[in-house]
This record gives sequence, C-alpha cells and structure tokens, in this order.
Amino acid sequence: MTPTQAIEFAKDKRCEIVDLKFSDILGLWQHFSIPASELDEDVFDAGVGFDGSSIRGWQAIHASDMLVIPDPSTAVLDPFTSAPTLSLICNIIDPFTRAEYSRDPRTIARKATQYLQSTGIGDVAYFGPEAEFFILDDVRYEQNQHCGYYFIDSVEGQWNTGREEFPNLGYKPRYKEGYFPVPPTDSMQDIRSEMVLIMAELGYRIEAHHHEVATAGQAEIDMRYLPLDKMGDALMWYKYTVKNVAHRHGKTATFMPKPVFQDNGSGMHVHQSLWKAGKPLFAGEGYAGLSQLAMHYIAGIIKHAPSLAAFTNPTTNSYRRLVPGFEAPINLAYSRRNRSAAVRIPMYQGNPEAKRIEVRFPDPTCNGYLAFSAMLMAGLDGIDNKLEAGDPLDKDIYAMSPEELADVPSTPASLEEALVALREDHEFLLKGNVFTEDVIDTWIDYKMQNEVLALQLRPHPYEFALYFDA
Ligand code: GLN
Ligand code: MG
Ligand code: MG
Ligand code: MG
Repeated sequence: MTPTQAIEFAKDKRCEIVDLKFSDILGLWQHFSIPASELDEDVFDAGVGFDGSSIRGWQAIHASDMLVIPDPSTAVLDPFTSAPTLSLICNIIDPFTRAEYSRDPRTIARKATQYLQSTGIGDVAYFGPEAEFFILDDVRYEQNQHCGYYFIDSVEGQWNTGREEFPNLGYKPRYKEGYFPVPPTDSMQDIRSEMVLIMAELGYRIEAHHHEVATAGQAEIDMRYLPLDKMGDALMWYKYTVKNVAHRHGKTATFMPKPVFQDNGSGMHVHQSLWKAGKPLFAGEGYAGLSQLAMHYIAGIIKHAPSLAAFTNPTTNSYRRLVPGFEAPINLAYSRRNRSAAVRIPMYQGNPEAKRIEVRFPDPTCNGYLAFSAMLMAGLDGIDNKLEAGDPLDKDIYAMSPEELADVPSTPASLEEALVALREDHEFLLKGNVFTEDVIDTWIDYKMQNEVLALQLRPHPYEFALYFDA
C-alpha cells in the first residue's frame, strides 16, 4: 500500500482511530493513537513526534524529541479494538537530521537485508520462527509457586504442582505428555484456533498449531516463513495476538522461556535459508542435502553462538531453559533430525525449496528484528570466511559423557556470560553498519544494569526454602 491507499483503506473500513506502533529495543510494541481525521499524506512524510526518552534504552532526556514514520505497507485493521482502528507499524527517525535511528530494531532488520544484498551472496533471507508460549490461568500462582519448591513428587511420576487444583484433574496432561493428546486433555484447542484465525485475518499464513510438551497449557503456532524484515513485523503481531486473545479469555500468555521448574521451557526454533534470484542456496549434494554455502552458514552460527545468545536468549530466565533433558540444546553442534543439537537440519521434505536449517537455542523473549538480523550476520560471516562446521553429531547429545563432549562447545550458562561474549565478539555484526557500536553498548549496558545486576541484588524466593532455617 502507498500512503494514499492506506488513507483510502482507512476510509473504506470507516476507521475512527489510527494506531501507530513501533518496537522498542527489547522487542515490545509501544504505541500511541491519532484520530483518523488527522491522517493525511503528511503523516507518512513528516511523521509524528513522541518523547524518545521515555522509551527504555533510547534517548537521553536532553535529546528526547523523536519522530515515528508510519510504513503504509503495514496498514491493517487492528483486531482487538472496539473503535475501528487502522494499525500502522512505524520506523523511527531523528527530527533534526531526519536520519534513521540506529537503535530502531526495525531499521536494523532493514539494514541486515540490504547488507545481504550488497554482498551479492543472496537477495532474500527467509526466517520461520516457532515461538512457544504458556497460556496460564492465574499468573500470581505461577510467579509465587513455580520457583521450584513444589515439584519433588515428579520423581515418583506424580506431577504435583502444589496448586489447589479442583474440581477435577482427570484431563490434565501427564508429565511431559502435553504433545499432543486431543481435547478435553488439550484444553487450549479453541483458544489457539482463535489466535490462528486472527493471524490469518491479519494476512499471515499459519502452517500448524498444537499443544506443546509441558503440561501447564504450553502452546505453539507456526507461521509460514517470510523474508527477514517481514518476519520481524509478523512476530510482533504474533505476540500481540497471542497475548490479547488469552486476555480476552481471562487468561495470560507468557513467552518467558522457563516459567515452570522441571518442565519443558518455551523455545523459539528459527528456520532459515538464503535465496538468490528465486533459487534456494541451501540445497546441495553435501551432508543432509545441504550446499557448501549452507555448511559455512552453520559454521558462522556455531562460531558466534555465545555472542548471538545475547540477542537470541536475552533474559536471565533464558538460561534456565538451556539445560539438559527438556529438548532445549546446550551443545553447539549440528545434526540432521537431531533435537538435542543446536542446529538441526529438518529431513521431512526432499524438495530443494524446503532445504533449510533450524537453529534451536533461541527463545521467544528475543526481539525478532535483532535476533534474526544477528543470526543472518553470523551466517554471512561464516560464508565470507569459509568457516568449517566440523563433523555432525548424530547422537543423543544428552546421553553423551562429559569426556565425549570435551570438544563440543556449549551455549552460555548465563545472560552475563552471553553479554561478555558479545562484548568480545561483535565485529561480524558491524559489517554494513547493520548493528552499530552504540547499539551493542546500549544493549550490553541495559541488560547488565537492569537485568543481570538487578536480579543478583535480590533475594530469590528459593533462597528462603534453602536458607531461611540455615
Ligand atoms: N520446548 C522445547 C524447547 O525449549 C522444544 C520442544 C519441541 O518443539 N520439540 O526448545
Ligand atoms: Mg515445532
Ligand atoms: Mg515446539
Ligand atoms: Mg522445531
């Protein structure tokens, strides 16, 4: 859509409000609205001002004026408002220089695609995330109780959540068996279907939805792959839809990677492939039907994984998921079909168009724009430097001994480790000015101060169980 078409669309749909949305650096939508009567071509051209200092990780107070520039191609009806509302996703620019804002995640995603094109390697990078999440009834309960005090019975096969669960647990999925019995054991069918139908209305193609392994209402909805920057937008709509539909039903949805101790966490496996002039570049004659180029891409992901984790697994909670035994990878190896490896090569489809890699360590607390861009940059660095991925690891890695795993690197053990890795290894992100030193520094400082240190300073609920009577 052009600006004129977006304005026409708003009139056609009798929109009364125009909602302007943009992603903050952490990957949450922020928004403000204007009456539809205020929408003209000038809004798309000159933009609309806001206070950039009140957005986490952005401007200092003395440089707080910023502008949103709505992208008319994102025009769509917001499915969750009562007043008919046109929704527009925006880019951020500086009002004085009118330059694109280097801390705007959407701008970073755009630059990543431009960088790919400038290398001549490919013209489109496709991304397909599988973002898992939990639909919960009562978040107070989850916050207070899920710190791990109540799960001792699970060893006896008795899954005791400590919750006063009544009246009837007959259809509660058995431990680790949420994947995938039919209703009534799957009590989330209708709510997921509603999410899927809304995503379809928004123009996104959904491939499947299902209950996931964890018993407490874990879910997954899979979107059809899209080019990197479009998938950045799609993931924002996905989270918005999931949370709003859950809210409609008096529930809450969380993308927190490990809300429940001793049960599966929520990952966001990311399928990716490069294409040039309509041809898939990852299909070839090598291992698992991959091309040499795909092998170098994998090598780039594995080499930079510790630093990538600062973007793909960006919360302190992310590292409670990356532990053995819950289908989350901890070892930086690649393998076909193998769900214990950090990079899996799916083997369902034989056609070259479907040839892709699945990176399994990311989780859905990441900012999609930044995580996809960072992974693309790591893969391109692998191709650029012809990095070798070494041998595949076609074994159950969880069952391997520490001696056998001595040469296999692991994912970072904490957010702090990932941020330290990013501080040391980020040259590959700066190519083409995709990420800037300023963005990297801002990210590391923000995460260290507001999350790593903030958590370290607080007594943890489980410390009371351990030490209250010490
Ligand atoms: N929940 C698992 C993870 O944390 C993945 C489970 C699956 O999709 N097979 O990555
Ligand atoms: Mg899946
Ligand atoms: Mg899954
Ligand atoms: Mg998967």
